[in-house]
Amino acid sequence: MDNKILGLHHITAIAGDAQRNFDFYTKVLGQRLVKKTVNFDDPGTYHFYFGNEQGTPGTILTFFPWEGIGKGRTGTGMATEITYTVPAGSLGFWKERFKQFNVPFEETIERLGEKYLRFTDPDGLQLSFVETVTDTRRPWITADIAENAATKGFHSTTLTLKDIEPTAKILTDIFGYTLQSQEDNRYRFITNTVDNANIIDLLATPNGTPGYNAGGTNHHIAFRVADDKVQMEFREKILSAGHQITPKIDRDYFFSLYFREPGGVLFEIATDNPGFTVDEPLQQLGTGLRLPKQYEPARADIEKVLPVLK
Ligand code: ZN
Repeated sequence: MDNKILGLHHITAIAGDAQRNFDFYTKVLGQRLVKKTVNFDDPGTYHFYFGNEQGTPGTILTFFPWEGIGKGRTGTGMATEITYTVPAGSLGFWKERFKQFNVPFEETIERLGEKYLRFTDPDGLQLSFVETVTDTRRPWITADIAENAATKGFHSTTLTLKDIEPTAKILTDIFGYTLQSQEDNRYRFITNTVDNANIIDLLATPNGTPGYNAGGTNHHIAFRVADDKVQMEFREKILSAGHQITPKIDRDYFFSLYFREPGGVLFEIATDNPGFTVDEPLQQLGTGLRLPKQYEPARADIEKVLPVLK
């Protein structure tokens, strides 16, 4: 399995207000802020990483909170739903919690034999919880979200596409996924290299309107590989298949490659190494503002422009 795609690594989305984003993910959903850093391409903007205790790949949702950014539009050519697993029987707890915090949610639905609770974050980003008994990942626990309800990490993400074929081909021919099931216009692809965060749903939407990337929409999805040696093997495969891809980029906590898949979604391939404890110990993850070394000399100026989190 060492040279394979190991499901999802992280998903990155765009938010507006940083405080509101931080409050929703850490307090309402009970995620751990595992890293507080800046957008490496725009250091006046935060980059938040929310996940489980260690920030295990497959649990990490990251945000660029851009103050004052307008609302985007979900549509074709983007990831349009992020699904986390929660323990069986916990959807009732979450509905009550969503009422308490005025989180918009829908009636529970059944999809491909599983129970889903769909809801949106304060920027309108589409999320859902699915009940499962098979996910043994240890969740991050908070004062009011116990182990019998806490999210364990990603289950899947949905990509909305005008034509699913070219994207499906990348998933199957390069990334090693197989078509597992289908319901209406939803095609479920899965990899058996890992037990969780191993599903991509493709939603065939030939008459859909293209999405517009701004607040409340997904920016990219990152697939996981063990290390940068495997990553570079995938770079060769993607180039050989006729797609363009960036060189390897050092993101401090992992190495990244990016390419726009033919359906329009920005894909990343990200490594397990070196991980989030590279610049702060496990117990202190997310407590301080971490800067990449090129911005460390400008720390005072950067701290001045970033909104203060309460
Ligand atoms: Zn990324």
